[in-house]
This record gives sequence, structure tokens and C-alpha cells, in this order.
Amino acid sequence: MPKPLIVITGASSGIGAATARLLSSRGHPLLLLARRLDRLEALGLPDTLCRKVDVTDRAAVEAAVREAEERYGPVDLLVNNAGAMLLGRIADQPVDEWERMLDINVKGLLYATRAVLPGMVERGAGTIVNIGSVAGRKTFPNHAAYVGTKFAVHAMSENLREEVAATGVRVVTVAPGAVETELLSHTSDERIKTDYQAWKHVTVREIVLASTGQES
Ligand code: NDP
Repeated sequence: MPKPLIVITGASSGIGAATARLLSSRGHPLLLLARRLDRLEALGLPDTLCRKVDVTDRAAVEAAVREAEERYGPVDLLVNNAGAMLLGRIADQPVDEWERMLDINVKGLLYATRAVLPGMVERGAGTIVNIGSVAGRKTFPNHAAYVGTKFAVHAMSENLREEVAATGVRVVTVAPGAVETELLSHTSDERIKTDYQAWKHVTVREIVLASTGQES
């Protein structure tokens, strides 16, 4: 029996690309979204639709999901991974960097969620994984605008989980610490980037498990 469709936003590098490789190796058809189409296609994964989509473009996200569903059937899993981390201080960080993070990390996540959620609720099945951050649980120096977006991801995930718990749709929040990806490279302040390198080491801090129907 063919495996169901998985959508991954921000699959052109880092965590999204690694997730795409893993889930493809388990036999799932994929819809991969990012702005760098060449990087999506370079993954060379079978049964995979790659689309150049900016997650801040709601119509484009919706169209890509519909196209993939026509080809592979309903979306069973959405990994809301696309994100930007532009570190800086509120006093002097370029304001457009706040706008970009809010648009991508918060609105982009909502747009992709809306594209798949009604179908999942109707079918009474499906999973949405939102990539939050330790910066969605606590604050860090030079992270103010970024933690704002990631606290929003955690809050929206929890509220959505409560909203759909009784329907059988699962909502999962994953909160990584510092991971070696391209994420930090987009920060414009060189000193903040150097200080950040000190954090690279992994531990699983907390796992919260419960039945899908348990709202609280
Ligand atoms: P990368 O920078 O390597 O990957 C980010 C991905 O998001 C890229 O594929 C990028 O694709 C995509 N993306 C960015 N903007 C857009 C956009 N407007 N539309 C569509 N796709 C977009 O970083 P990570 O893999 O580290 O980040 C993945 C997620 O993990 C993010 O949400 C991040 O906040 C989170 N995270 C990462 C941590 C880390 O230490 N690395 C720690 C905690 C959380 P493209 O540029 O081609 O559009």
C-alpha cells in the first residue's frame, strides 16, 4: 500500500532537508517547499514534488499543496519547518529583519497549516509538526524579535492542539537547541554570530507525551 503524502516547508537546507531525506527513505511521497528550487531538486528524492514557494505567499502555498494532493493523495503530515533567525538588539536591529521573521516564522506557518488542516479535520487524521525552538521556551541575549516569533509558534501549536484534539488530528511541537545549519549565517551582526558558536552540543531536555484526545 502506498505511503501517504508529507509536506515539508523549508526543505532546501538544514533540518528540513535532513527530514526530507529521512522520510523519503521510509517510502513517503513528498512535497518540498522553499525559495531555492535548485537545492530542493538537488536532493534527488523519488516521488517528490519540489516547488519554489515563499511561505509568506499564502496562495502559492495553497496551490502547491493542492497540486501535490492531486498527484499523491491527501496530506498526512505537515512539517512546518521554514524559518529565519536574524539575531540583533531591538535598539539597533534593522526593522525589516523583524518583519521578515514575523512573516516567515509566524504567518508562513499559519498559511501552511490552513492549507492542510481542513482536510485533516474532515478525515479525522493527520499530523502537524511545528518546529519551534528552545527560543520558544526561554529568552536569550540578542534574540528578542526571534524569540517573539518562536514563542508565538509554541503558543499557536498548543492552542491548535487543543482546538483539534477531539478530531484525531495531532499537533506536535519540536524545540531544537543550537543545530549546525545555515540558520545563523543570515544574521547580519558578526559578533553575535561568533558568540553563538559556543553552544553546539546536543541533549534531549524534555519529552511530553499524551493521547491525541487529551486536550489538557
Ligand atoms: P536553515 O537556514 O538551514 O533552513 C531554513 C529553511 O527555511 C531553508 O530551507 C529556507 O529555504 C527556508 N525558508 C526560509 N525562508 C523561507 C521562505 N520565506 N519561504 C520558504 N522557505 C523559507 O535553518 P534550520 O534548518 O536550522 O532551520 C529550520 C527550522 O529550525 C527553523 O524554523 C528554525 O527557526 C528552527 N530552529 C533551528 C535551530 C538551529 O540552531 N539551527 C534551533 C531551533 C530552531 P530557502 O532559503 O531556500 O527559501
